Amino acid sequence: MFPLSLFSIFHPPLVGLSPTQYDTAMRKLSSSSLTKLSRSLLRWYSRHKRDLPWRHTRDPYRIWVSEIMLQQTQVATVIPYYERWLKTFPTLSSLARAPLSKALELWAGLGYYRRVRMFHEAVSYLQREFRGKIPGSSEGLRKLPGIGRYTAGAIASIAWGEKTPVLDGNVIRILTRIFALAQSVDRPATLEKLWSIAASLLPGKNPGDLNQALMELGATVCFPSNPQCARCPVRKSCAARQKGRELFYPVRSRKNRSEKLRMAALVLRNPKNEVWLEKQPRQGRWGGLWMFPFWMHKKEMLEEFRSSGPRPVPFLTVSHAFTKYRITLEVFESLCEKKTPRKDRYGRWFPVAKLARIAFPSPHREIARALAVRKGPLDPLFPKRGLAERKPGARLT
Ligand code: SF4
Repeated sequence: MFPLSLFSIFHPPLVGLSPTQYDTAMRKLSSSSLTKLSRSLLRWYSRHKRDLPWRHTRDPYRIWVSEIMLQQTQVATVIPYYERWLKTFPTLSSLARAPLSKALELWAGLGYYRRVRMFHEAVSYLQREFRGKIPGSSEGLRKLPGIGRYTAGAIASIAWGEKTPVLDGNVIRILTRIFALAQSVDRPATLEKLWSIAASLLPGKNPGDLNQALMELGATVCFPSNPQCARCPVRKSCAARQKGRELFYPVRSRKNRSEKLRMAALVLRNPKNEVWLEKQPRQGRWGGLWMFPFWMHKKEMLEEFRSSGPRPVPFLTVSHAFTKYRITLEVFESLCEKKTPRKDRYGRWFPVAKLARIAFPSPHREIARALAVRKGPLDPLFPKRGLAERKPGARLT
């Protein structure tokens, strides 16, 4: 049980204050109040934490793998990827020696491929310059590609017990609720304040457990739109809960305005039931991944294929969000009997049966999945009667 109502000690003065008054009140919080809050979190964590594979290790490489995979991805999705990854790349050196394409292949389906490219770049650098030794502090980790303040804090606190905080969306939500922080979390000054609150909660022993307790609370109890306050270990010290204003926090000043885009992609198939894929240049956002040919506008695609082969026909529509864009990808399909669709298109043919092993960005993975589940290897673009008899432009069903 929660030992003491911290709320009664320090929260009433926090609610409804101006930012300056709030800061003064926060400074007055006694360290014993914070210690009690942190103990409640630790006690709850030791009883209720989920048994996850990366919680059985202090190996910084393994924790690094889990932290990179968990960014923007659910735990249940990550577990099989994590286990497969460590079977193939059990050590940093084994990953550094492997080509990026092999790492991308194992990552296929997890999305946000920039994470794996940066990870591979960082381990290759460590292997080359430091014989594979990982820097032993959060400060050293932050100099590596793809490691920010959060990831460095998570690895260093869990692997080495460094007293350094973490702050991600989950922790921001919990802390703004507990402390009724009404300042916008879009402001760097507010985030700095939250970093320092997170730091002040850390115990001297096992600070990684406190960090994980916050992450766990955010993932399993303090949900964004339906926080489970009745089973929250810090409910009595949560100012937002006491005021019945849990959903008011965190406060944001910017509305997330998304822009709508309509794009087109094309599945080009040959009579051997292979599809044409193009590898993206290494430097771009999708560097090293394979994609179906795509265009910013359907019109451009239709123009390019007007004179070469049958007119593309609709296949499916894929919707996805990408940074501030909401993209509707109209996917078409067409036949190609040439060796390459056009001289200026760089790619190669892949059998449909092998698409599951290829690293795609997520919308293109959906196209590959749709192709894989379609019945009949050559149907419907290649009916038994033969190519010549297919009606141009016939709609697919
Ligand atoms: S009491 Fe509710 S709002 Fe407050 S931290 Fe717990 S779950 Fe979140």
